[in-house]
Amino acid sequence: MKYSLNWDLDSLFAGGINSPQLAAKLAQLKTAIATLADLLDRWDAASDAPQYPQFVKLIDQLQTIDAGLGQAGIFITAVGSADVNNPGVAPMEAQLRDLETQADNVSGKLKKVLVQVPDNYFSALLALPALQPIAFNLREMRDAGKELLDDKTEALINRLNLDGKAAWSSHYDSLVATMQIPFHDEDGHPVTLSAGQADNNLLGNADPQYRAELLPAWEQAWADKEQLFADTLNHLAGFRLTEYAAHGTTDFLKEPLKENRLSAATLDTIWQVVADNHQFLLDYLDRKAALLGKKHAGWQDVEAPLHLPGSDEHHFTFDEAAAFIIQHYGEFSPKMAALAQHAFEHRWIEAEDRAGKAPGGWMESAPETHESRIFMTFTGSPNDVSTLAHELGHAFHSSVMADLPNLRQDYAMNVAETASTFGELIVADANVQAAKTDAEKITLLNAKLDNPLAMFLNIRARFLFETRFYQLRQKKLVTPAELNELMLNAQKEAFGHNLSSYSPHLWASKLHFYIDEPAFYNFPYVFGYLFSLGIYAKAQQTGNFEDQYIALLRDTANMSTEELAQKHLGVDLTQPDFWLAGVKLIKRDVAEFMRLTDSLVK
Ligand SMILES: [Zn+2]
Repeated sequence: MKYSLNWDLDSLFAGGINSPQLAAKLAQLKTAIATLADLLDRWDAASDAPQYPQFVKLIDQLQTIDAGLGQAGIFITAVGSADVNNPGVAPMEAQLRDLETQADNVSGKLKKVLVQVPDNYFSALLALPALQPIAFNLREMRDAGKELLDDKTEALINRLNLDGKAAWSSHYDSLVATMQIPFHDEDGHPVTLSAGQADNNLLGNADPQYRAELLPAWEQAWADKEQLFADTLNHLAGFRLTEYAAHGTTDFLKEPLKENRLSAATLDTIWQVVADNHQFLLDYLDRKAALLGKKHAGWQDVEAPLHLPGSDEHHFTFDEAAAFIIQHYGEFSPKMAALAQHAFEHRWIEAEDRAGKAPGGWMESAPETHESRIFMTFTGSPNDVSTLAHELGHAFHSSVMADLPNLRQDYAMNVAETASTFGELIVADANVQAAKTDAEKITLLNAKLDNPLAMFLNIRARFLFETRFYQLRQKKLVTPAELNELMLNAQKEAFGHNLSSYSPHLWASKLHFYIDEPAFYNFPYVFGYLFSLGIYAKAQQTGNFEDQYIALLRDTANMSTEELAQKHLGVDLTQPDFWLAGVKLIKRDVAEFMRLTDSLVK
């Protein structure tokens, strides 16, 4: 084997979770945060003018602390993901959270100090060569500072958050860990499934009958504990709404939009495009149902795999997957290919299929050493190759920004999902093209269409639910029955009343509603997916696309998303045209799926 299935974490901090280097780093950060707080207390704009040496030092220090917290954070997350039973992780995580809270307090203070700097001083500051590259970020900080309360209150909110919003979020994990779903295995023997096992089978089991029987058992298990989940969701949202209200707003989308540097007009346009363009996906779902021998698909069939006779998928070894990704990345961008190769060679990836690993996949970057780590479980399916390409897309994004000041690397979730989806699209397309039979092509197209199905239907339902839930929560505590009804209606609306069954308890089973930061963990995915489709459409027409793409990625924390699209793609995101170009690509895949399956259904 050429490439290792296990990552190297020792190059980040040697010696595992009890690494003396890590302990030293955390101690050093603690001192640095205190020093910065002190520096900030003593800073005075007037006496620092006109060269502002103290302020430059202060900003440097802030970015150094940020990078240090990131470096420690990726390591602790990595150790925990690779070994969920490691008892050393939680205490280190708690230490890190504590430091992050202290750093947040200081950065909150800094934002308020910036507000007190008169406009003419502030303009002079931003024009300094040392600060000019982060002018946008400093302006953003100053604007945020205008909405902050006094230091003491902000610090109190941050501290209460540890036992409030953040605590409810982790309480959710504890509740989910107690879930036991009585069911049977494929041979009919009784088994007890964990939430994760049941979820995997509900969406991924190849047997439609097994999935159909599992859905009611799944719903019942969440129903049995629905009051506990309703309490958790109500209090998490209640904390958040109180926090917003304290900062003078009842608009619960204001903060999520601001975090994503996105305007409400753009988000409205996206949802309008999705609402106007989902019929072809419903037709595809009907076809999929027909292939499964049904009139309408049930909730449990939406993301189900299709295994037609003769559709045996190509099985990849890890080395083959690496070669495949490097080759197809290279057709778009030699620099993307080089980064992927570097990641494989330098053991940035943990891919082994073994017990004791966390589910899912992620990429995080290590800001101090300019590298990344990718976590996933690789079983050799084409889908796994796409996932790997997705995470490597994230890593590419980080790598092209690694030389920028830390503040300039702080891109939001919506654009974060752009580079990843882009990487995934390249490889998913290549997979379809490499298929040797029609049956294999159908299987792969079906897997590729999971993304648009999720974005246009499932995530739209989640967004409709979440906005309506927050509206209601502003008035009262929302009962489990109301939550079920809100969710059921949102699903029916998003899926055009076209399914034979739904999942009204998705509000309890879906982790994303319980993430404390960021809020509204749904629309940035849809944005990132459609944005990358639009870029992909453009890349297929444009000659020298690599430089343009890299220039766009490097600006992702340097302007609003609308400005980013205008500057690098020449498009207006508040208008439907750009988004429709991406929709066209999905329609092409659906048309191909329909053509290939025409003769298989009567
Ligand atoms: Zn991603």
